[in-house]
Amino acid sequence: MSQQKLMAIPNVVTPNQPVLFNPEICNGCNHCVEVCQIDVYIPNPEKGKPPIILHPDECWYCGCCANDCPRPGAIIFNWPLQSRGYWKNKETGKIGQV
Ligand code: SF4
Ligand code: SF4
Repeated sequence: MSQQKLMAIPNVVTPNQPVLFNPEICNGCNHCVEVCQIDVYIPNPEKGKPPIILHPDECWYCGCCANDCPRPGAIIFNWPLQSRGYWKNKETGKIGQV
C-alpha cells in the first residue's frame, strides 16, 4: 500500500468564522484547540501560530475557547450575523454592537 502525504484544508462552505485570532498576541499554545469539545480547530503546523479553523460551521458559539484563552486579545468571538445584538444610544443615536 502506498503512503500518501496529506494536508488538512479548512472547510470553506461558508465564509463564517466563529472566532478571529490576533496573530500578534496568540502564541499558538493550542489551549483553545483542547478546550473545544467539537474539534472546530486543529493545531497550526507552524509552531507559535494561531490554530486553524477547520470546521467553522460546527461551532456552537459556547465561548469556551475564547473564555479560556490565557492571552487577552488573542482570540475574539465573531457572532454570526443573525445572532448579533445591537443597541442605540438614545442621546447620540449612535448604533453599536454587543
Ligand atoms: S488563541 Fe489563546 S488559547 Fe488559542 S492558541 Fe492562541 S493563545 Fe493559545
Ligand atoms: S465557541 Fe465553543 S464550539 Fe465554538 S470553537 Fe469555541 S469552544 Fe468550540
